[in-house]
Amino acid sequence: MTESMKGLRRTHRCTEVSREHIGETVTVMGWVQKRRNLGSLIFIDLRDRSGLLQIVFDEPKVGSEGFAKAETLRSEFVVAVTGTVEKRSAAVNENLKTGDIEVIASGLRILSESETPPFPIEENSQTKEELRLRYRYLDLRRPDIQRNLMMKSKVAMLLRNFMAEEGFLEIETPILTKSTPEGARDYLVPSRVHPGNFYALPQSPQLFKQLLMCSGYDRYFQIARCFRDEDLRADRQPEFTQADMELSFVDVDDVIDVNERLLQYVFKEAAGVEVELPIPRMTWQEAMDRFGSDKPDTRFGMELINVSNTVAGCGFGVFTGALEQGGSVRGINAKGQGTMPRKKIDKLVEFAKGYGAKGLAYLAVNEDGSYKSSFAKFMTEEELKSLVDKMKGEPGDLLLFAADKNKVVWDVLGALRLELARELGLLDKNQYHFLWVTEFPLLEWSEEENRYMAMHHPFTMPMEEDWDKIDSDPGSVRAKAYDIVLNGTELGGGSVRIHQDDIQEKMLEVLGFTKESAYEQFGFLLNAFQYGVPPHAGLAYGLDRMIMLMMQCDSIRDVIAFPKVKDASCLMTDAPNVVDEKQLEELALSIDISEEKEQ
Ligand code: ASP
Repeated sequence: MTESMKGLRRTHRCTEVSREHIGETVTVMGWVQKRRNLGSLIFIDLRDRSGLLQIVFDEPKVGSEGFAKAETLRSEFVVAVTGTVEKRSAAVNENLKTGDIEVIASGLRILSESETPPFPIEENSQTKEELRLRYRYLDLRRPDIQRNLMMKSKVAMLLRNFMAEEGFLEIETPILTKSTPEGARDYLVPSRVHPGNFYALPQSPQLFKQLLMCSGYDRYFQIARCFRDEDLRADRQPEFTQADMELSFVDVDDVIDVNERLLQYVFKEAAGVEVELPIPRMTWQEAMDRFGSDKPDTRFGMELINVSNTVAGCGFGVFTGALEQGGSVRGINAKGQGTMPRKKIDKLVEFAKGYGAKGLAYLAVNEDGSYKSSFAKFMTEEELKSLVDKMKGEPGDLLLFAADKNKVVWDVLGALRLELARELGLLDKNQYHFLWVTEFPLLEWSEEENRYMAMHHPFTMPMEEDWDKIDSDPGSVRAKAYDIVLNGTELGGGSVRIHQDDIQEKMLEVLGFTKESAYEQFGFLLNAFQYGVPPHAGLAYGLDRMIMLMMQCDSIRDVIAFPKVKDASCLMTDAPNVVDEKQLEELALSIDISEEKEQ
C-alpha cells in the first residue's frame, strides 16, 4: 500500500544534510538504492539527484508499524523519511558526501513501489547501452548521467549570464521553417494547410540570425535546437543543441575576443578549467600541413613532415608517381616504435586504407642504424639517409609515409597520428588544448557535383587580400571563417558574413546559383540586404560536445537526456513510427515503399 504526501514537506535533498544538522529533525525523500538488514536494525541508502544518505530504522524509534514497512522496502521504492540526524555510529564512509552522518528514522512513508529494474541503477554501468536506452528513464537515474545533465544546465545558465552581461539579446527563431544552406540533408514536415508543401526543420538559425542583424538587434544569442538528417557517427545526433550568436559591426578579432572571454568564464565556473588567453591561433593551411586536420589535437606532437622535395627524383615509383600527379609525400615519426611487430604495422596499413590511402610506406630505424623498410630497396643509401634526416629519424623510430593527392595524404596521416596517439596513451583527458583555426578556404571542390561548394556557407566573407583571385583561382581564396577546436574536436565555428552586394552576387555565381535559384531559396535574406545591412559575424558552439569534453564522456549520448541511436531512432519511444491512414490523408500523402527501400 502506498501513501500520499499529505502533511509532509521535504526539508533537504539527501546530501544537503550534514554534520551541521546533528540533533535536528529532517524529512528527506527519494529512491531506495539498497536495503540491508543487520539484526535489529535496517539500513537503507536513500538516493536523490544530489547523492546518497544513510537511513537507519530502529524499531523502538520508528515504531513497529514503521519497522514492518521498512522490512518491505526494495530497490527503487520511493519513500519519505523523517528522522533525527546523528553522527554515524559505525565506520565513516569517506567516499560519500554524507559519509559521517546518518538519519535515525522516526517516520516512514512508502510513496510508490517499484518493479525490479532491468539493470542496477549505479555509476559506470556495465549494462549494454541498448538496454539502458530502452529504459532511458531508469538510466537517467544513474549518478553519472545526472551529473552530465546538471552540468549542461549549469553551462546554459553561465552562457546566458555571460551573454547578458555582454549585451546579447536572447531571441527565438522558428523551428518550422525553410531549408537553410548549411549543407546537410533537411528534416521535412508536411503542411496540412498547404498540401504538397513542406517545412524544413532548421539545420541552424543561420539566416534568421543574420536577419536579426539587419533588423538592428546588434547582438543576438540563442540556445537553439538544430536538425540534420545525416548518417550518424559516434559524435553526431540528428537533433543537437547549439549555443548560437551573431554580432553587428564586428570583424574576426571582435568575435574571437568575446568568445575567448566566454570560454574562459564558462570553463572556469563550470569545470574549474583555467583557459589561458589568448588562445593560440593557426591558419587552416598550417593546421593541415602540420597535423593533417582542420581540427588538430595539439596535446601531443608527431607532426606531419613534407618530404616531397627530399624524395623528388628518387627511385621509388610510389613516391615520384604521387608527385607527378601533383600530390605530395609526407610522413610522421612514431618515436620509439621502431620495433613494432610486422603484424601491427600491417594493421596500420589497413587503417590507412580506410582513409583512402593506396598503401603506407614504412621505415624503421634499427638500433644499429640499419633500416627495415617496405621501400628501401628502391632507394639509394644517400636517398634513404636524407629522408631519415628530414624526418629526424633516430635509432628506434618508426617512420610512416603516405604519397597521394594532398587531401588523401592529410586525411590518412592525420587519422594515423591520432590512432597512434590513442594506442600509445598520449591523449591526456585532463589537458585542455584550445586552438583557433582561421583562414579556412572559402570554397571546396566537389568531385560529385563537379563544382565549387561553400566550405562554410554561401554567406561567408572572403578575405579582402584574396578577393581578386575569385575568378582566376577560386580554390585559393581564403575566408574570414574560424573554428574553435578543443583537443582535436570542433567545439564551434563561424564566420564574418558578406554584407556587400557585389561580393554576394559573385559568390553565388561561383557556387553555381542563378539569380532565380538563389532568390527561391533565400530571397528573403537577399531582399533584406537591400534595406541597409550592417557588417556582421557570428559563431555557434555545439553545446552537447562542449559538455561531453568537460565531463570527459566518450559518447554524446551521455549528455543528451533522450538521445537517438545510430539509425536515428529512439529505442524508448520507438520513434519514428508509422502514422494513421487518416493523418496521411489529411496531409495528402501516400506511402510507397518499394522493396529495395525497405531493405
Ligand atoms: N550556422 C553555422 C553553423 O551551424 C555557425 C555560424 O556560422 O555561426 O555551423
